[in-house]
Amino acid sequence: MSIVIAIDGPGGVGKSSVSFEIAKKFNFMLIDTGAMYRAVALFAIKNNISFEGEKILELAKKLKFSFKQKNDKNLVFVNNKDISSIIRTQEVSMNASNVAKNGRLRKILVDKQRELGKENSIVIEGRDIGTVVFPNAGIKLFLTASSEIRAERRYKELLAKGLDISFEKVLEELKERDYNDSHREASPLIQADDAILIDTGNLSIEEVINKVIEIIKERIGV
Ligand code: C5P
Repeated sequence: MSIVIAIDGPGGVGKSSVSFEIAKKFNFMLIDTGAMYRAVALFAIKNNISFEGEKILELAKKLKFSFKQKNDKNLVFVNNKDISSIIRTQEVSMNASNVAKNGRLRKILVDKQRELGKENSIVIEGRDIGTVVFPNAGIKLFLTASSEIRAERRYKELLAKGLDISFEKVLEELKERDYNDSHREASPLIQADDAILIDTGNLSIEEVINKVIEIIKERIGV
C-alpha cells in the first residue's frame, strides 16, 4: 500500500527541511512541488514566455520532472538536468509565485504531481497538497509560523549563502509572496480541514521533525 504524506504551509516555515528528513527516515520519495512552479518560472523568463496565454502551458507540458535525494539535499531535475540551485534565487521565488496564479498551468503541474506519486509512497510538500493535489492523503500536516520568524530564518540562510540583502527586504518579499499565495483564486494557500496544524515558531527544526515522526508512526503504526 502506498502512503501519501502531505506537508503544506507558507514559505520559510521549514517544510523543505522537515520533508527531507521525513522522506529519509521512512525511505519515501520526496516531491517538492514549489520547485516545479519555480522551474516553470525560470524557463519562462529564459525563453521570454508570458505567464499568461498558451505558450507557458506548452512549456509546462514539455518539462519532465524527477527528484533524487543525495547527501543532505533534495535534487530536482528537469529533462534530466539538475536545476536545484538555479531555482533558489529571490527573483525566481517572486516569479514562481506569479506563475502559480495561473489556474490552467496549475492543472498541468498537479497532474504531473499525481503521476509522480502514483506508485510510490511519498512525502509531498507545497501549498495545496492536502486541499487539491492529494485530498485523500493518509497524513496531512500544515506548518505555520509568524512572518517575522520565517523571514529571520530565510535571512540567515541567504546570509550563509553570501547574499547581500537586508532583513527588511526579505520580510517584505515574504509578505508579498504570502499575500499572493493566500489571495489567488486558483488553489489558494489554506489549511485542509483534516490537516494537523504545527506551529514551528517556538520549536527547533529537530523538535518539529520529531513531532512529525511521532504523528506518522501513530498513524501508520510502525
Ligand atoms: O515552496 P516554494 O517557496 O519553493 O514555492 C515557490 C512558489 O510556488 C510559492 O510561493 C507558491 O506561489 C508556488 N507554489 C504553489 N503551490 C504549490 C507549491 C508552490 O502555488 N503546491
